[in-house]
Formats: sequence, C-alpha cells, structure tokens
Amino acid sequence: MPEERTQHSEDSKGRTGPEDLRGSAATFDRVKKGATAIATLSTKNHEVLESRVRDRSHVCLACGQPSVHRFLYRKNGCDILRCEQCGLGRAETMGFDPESYYTSDYFSGERPDGYADYIGTENILRREFAGTVEFIRKFRASGRLLDVGCAYGFFLHEAKRFFDVSGIELAEEAAEHCRRSGLNVFTGQADETLLGRLGTTDVIVLLDVIEHLPSPRDTIALLVNHLDPGGIIVITTGDFGSLYSRVAGAHWRLMTPPQHLWFFSQASMQAMATSLGLEVEHLDHPWKVVPLSLISFQLTRMSGLRSKRIAISNRLGLPVNLFDAMRVVLRKPSR
Ligand SMILES: [Zn+2]
Repeated sequence: MPEERTQHSEDSKGRTGPEDLRGSAATFDRVKKGATAIATLSTKNHEVLESRVRDRSHVCLACGQPSVHRFLYRKNGCDILRCEQCGLGRAETMGFDPESYYTSDYFSGERPDGYADYIGTENILRREFAGTVEFIRKFRASGRLLDVGCAYGFFLHEAKRFFDVSGIELAEEAAEHCRRSGLNVFTGQADETLLGRLGTTDVIVLLDVIEHLPSPRDTIALLVNHLDPGGIIVITTGDFGSLYSRVAGAHWRLMTPPQHLWFFSQASMQAMATSLGLEVEHLDHPWKVVPLSLISFQLTRMSGLRSKRIAISNRLGLPVNLFDAMRVVLRKPSR
C-alpha cells in the first residue's frame, strides 16, 4: 500500500495542492468523505439561509396578493417579514397559543411585553377612553356597540353612557371582572358561535387588538357580517409605515412578537378594508394620554433593566404622540 499522505506542498508557482494523489483508494475515500461532509454542511447552511435570511412568498392577508415578503429581522425568535405590495408586516411564530398567553399575568406587569398595571391605571385609561367615545360619536352617535378584546371593560363603561354595549374578551379573569361590574361580556374569541349569540351591531371597536389576532382578515370578515349596513368598525393599531417604526426597526416599541403578530401600514389597512367591502372613512394618528407607569415600564424594558413599580406614576399621565399608531374608521356601505 502506498503511504497515505495528505499534507500539502507548494508547487513552483506557489500554489498549494495534495502532494500525492496517485491511485490511492484510501486517499480517494478520505477525499470523498470530506467532500460529502462539506456538501452536507453547505446544505445545512443553505437551509438556514432559506429559513432565516431569504425572502418568502405568501398570499398577503391585507392586499390579498401572492407577493414577495421581505425578511427584515428576527425578534424574540420570530422572523419579521413585510409584504412588498402593501407594507403589511407579519411575525412568523412557532406554536403560539393565545389562550395560554393572555392570562392575568399579561395585565399586571408579570410579563415584559404586557401591561405594567392595567387595573391600577384605570383612571387614566378611562379618561383616554372617554375621548375615544367622543371621537366615535362623530361617526355614530348611538346604537349597539361591541368591543372585541375589551380587557377589564374600562372602555365599555365610558361607552355605555351613549351606547347599548357588550364585549368579548379572551382572558377569563378580565371577562369575569367585567361581568362583576355589570357589563355584558362573553369569554372567548370573536368566532361565529359567539357573534351569533350577540346578534348584529352598529359599532364594533378593536382597540389595540387587531395586531394580536391569529387571523385578522378572517375575524374582520366575520365582524362585517355582524355589522348592520351603515355601521362602523373602529380600529387602533401601530403604523408600521411610520417614521419611528422604520427608524427603530427591531427596537420599535410595538415590535413585540409573538404578542403582536401583524404590523399594519396605512396602505395595508386600506387594502384590507377595500377587499372586505369597507370604506376607509377616517385615518389619523391621535395624541394619547399614557400612564407614566407604562412609559417607565416600556423604557425599562427597552433599556434591558429590571423594572421597579412606582405607585404614584399610576395616577399620572402624559400626552404622547410618536405618530407611530393609527386610528381608523371603516364603514360598511348602507345600500
Ligand atoms: Zn400585502
């Protein structure tokens, strides 16, 4: 057997190469194994590239087009992609279960992506919601109103002065809190069964809720069926096309998958509304009074430090507008 030699030597032109490859089966085997190993490795790398880095094709739920979705970045283990047609952002998650996620922990500061202390800030939130009710009454002064994702019912308490109100809430404890305070609130998701029990309505509100839904288009389509002609759907959500969102990227305050799954832009909101037979009657970026405790909670989270609860800040609020959140009024034609 010829001696196995794998060391390399330089030739006269300074190139390197195997010194001896003459008819050695063992050497050939070794080279083949090496080549296979390299091929396997590069296939694996390629797969990683495929799943993590490369753009993907999806049928966009907002614009309804099969379109290229550009990979933007990864956040909290989710790929964030953006529809090239309308600008809708989507988070690709693995096995996210909303029912086990939206528990009381979510509203009491136990989770960094939830609320600091939802119940403790009731006064500030209700003042804010009173303003939202005033805003809604410019489009519909009275009638039946349904709040999808009504949390602890603070908005419904403000709205019931003018509307006949009911709500749907996924978190059992929050829904129970609503019922104890005399509100007509159902526990569960906005599905056919639940909406069937509620009947049709004149106003449907989704306040900072649409971005949490597993399939917002299907939910809105269902809601449209339970909306009387001439009725409105009021949505508040982040604006993925806003300057702050584009500059901050993965660090945007609302970029919190898997809690937030969808990131609408003005164009994607318009596209989804039109394709569902709704008219965009109004779209703006309102000022908002935000509890100081939530501001410090979010700043603390972004700086990566542990949060300390400051009791007094629950009672204080600051008017804030980063122009990265929008308020939309969609109308179902009355014909
Ligand atoms: Zn799209």
